[in-house]
Amino acid sequence: MESTKIKDVSIEPLNIELEEPFTIAIGTKYTIENVILTIILENGIEGYGEAAPLEPINGENQATVLAVLNSCKDFLIGKNASNYRSISKQVKNIFWPQITALCAIEMALLDAFTKTLKIPLYQFFGGMENEIETDYTIDIVSSDEAKQNATILAKKGYRILKIKVGKNPKEDIDRILAIKDGAPDCQITLDANQGFAPYEALRFLENLAENNIRPILFEQPVVKHDLPGMKFVKDNTSIPVAADETVFTSADAINVIRSGCADVINIKTMKSGIIGALDIAAIARSANIGLMIGCMLESVLSKSASVHIAAGLGGFSFIDLDPHSYPEKDPFTGGPQFNDPIYTLSDDNSGIGVFKK
Ligand SMILES: [Mg+2]
Repeated sequence: MESTKIKDVSIEPLNIELEEPFTIAIGTKYTIENVILTIILENGIEGYGEAAPLEPINGENQATVLAVLNSCKDFLIGKNASNYRSISKQVKNIFWPQITALCAIEMALLDAFTKTLKIPLYQFFGGMENEIETDYTIDIVSSDEAKQNATILAKKGYRILKIKVGKNPKEDIDRILAIKDGAPDCQITLDANQGFAPYEALRFLENLAENNIRPILFEQPVVKHDLPGMKFVKDNTSIPVAADETVFTSADAINVIRSGCADVINIKTMKSGIIGALDIAAIARSANIGLMIGCMLESVLSKSASVHIAAGLGGFSFIDLDPHSYPEKDPFTGGPQFNDPIYTLSDDNSGIGVFKK
């Protein structure tokens, strides 16, 4: 195999202004403020990694990620990308709370390594599937806008709409009814982003049931550390409950399983890194817990990496990797081919398969 020794590393901020602000129960984002890491191997191959920090979720922001990655630069140079687990472990030992920065390092290492091997990343992970279907997220917007979006999305072929709730139950119900009106054949999932008390979450489901609406998933109804509260919700509804913000680490996944508080775990690279995501997927599968994969506000690079993980491992029941809607502002192009709502992976490009414009 060609040398996978790291010759150089570059780190740059990625700022993309969103066309529309993105609002969920814990806040509003106006701009993507991520960080791109490029590692260059002695064999000339470049590997790309991305960090998508979001303070209320992972306690990081662009400035902390830049600081961590810059302080890892000298450590990375001279290491072998083929030793990606060893490198990840050493970085994690020091910067364990800086998980999106670690994710960028793992992503860049795996991209460069699998490019050297000349195989696509999803094949490296096992190549279980070469097609995955995503839902599309409708954030907290007016009912009119939500209905309009739902109609357009249904026409495009989306079969599952994920609806952000948890900020104002009355407005949430109105918005869900509007979405159902605009896209009557779509199934819906709900994500409260920790916005409800346990009893409020159940009352919310009861209100929906009175309107003959039955979501197929209820994600993170209550605050992340309230495992008994989440169990209360789960035990009092037949709608599957998913843990998202509750699970960042393998230990978190085991706690969810031991406490019996969720039916599904939502895995995100920006919560656990890529290696952590693989570990959590294995734990969940072993415990017969459903798998979901999600993302933050990410460029085509990082989103593509998650598509490779979902397809490579297979068995994800809920896929929330909606496409980026700002391709002209994205610094990357390529990645798995996307025709709403299906990603198709091919063996034409190795690694993550994205290119810098
Ligand atoms: Mg979520």
